[in-house]
Amino acid sequence: MNKNIPEKGAALQRDLETYAIIPYLPGGFISVEDLKKMVEIAYKYKARTFKITPEQRIAIIGLPRDALDDIWKELNMKPGGFTGKVVRPAKFCPGTSECKKGLQNSIKMGMVIDKKFQGRTLPNKVKIGVSGCNNSCAQSAVRDIGLIGSKKGWNVMVGGNSGKKPMIGEEIAKNLSQEEVIKLMDNIFIEYVKHDTKKRLGHLIDKIGFGNFKKELGI
Ligand code: SF4
Repeated sequence: MNKNIPEKGAALQRDLETYAIIPYLPGGFISVEDLKKMVEIAYKYKARTFKITPEQRIAIIGLPRDALDDIWKELNMKPGGFTGKVVRPAKFCPGTSECKKGLQNSIKMGMVIDKKFQGRTLPNKVKIGVSGCNNSCAQSAVRDIGLIGSKKGWNVMVGGNSGKKPMIGEEIAKNLSQEEVIKLMDNIFIEYVKHDTKKRLGHLIDKIGFGNFKKELGI
């Protein structure tokens, strides 16, 4: 019987026969060349459709199982459809690279976060949003870790999610540099795994208290 094939980044579809794959597109950006390759693959292997995912990716849906290895080889892209209890690829807005309202470089920040944390195993999934200003286009308030650019640096929210029991994150630090954000995130993840929990980060913080969580981080 067919099932998901995580090592091939392939998710079985409702027809229980074909698969969807999601290449890694940092922040949802894709070169013209890579987009062309994805379209050619879709034609060649008779995919049913594309789907723009909520996490700024493009899924190719309806691919045959026995062609998955060839497809990844021809695409020459990394899988980006992480599932399970891991840090997911960050969602980030264009920030100062493209957006006239941007106050911080969210593309650079998002890429650094992905490089450092993407795929790290934690008690539950962790979603990250990086917004270049307080318009919060990367939905920072409802991400497990949410960054918002200010004139002086990055404000960091923790504990948000838009899952089964939605929560708004709380601000845990203000005006941090890129290096300070990475250090804080690392500390948060270290403390998270010390708890015997399977809860989303926000529900853990809710249980132990925001003040106590800050104390664990030495804040
Ligand atoms: S969050 Fe701010 S910087 Fe980012 S896209 Fe929205 S308006 Fe632009």
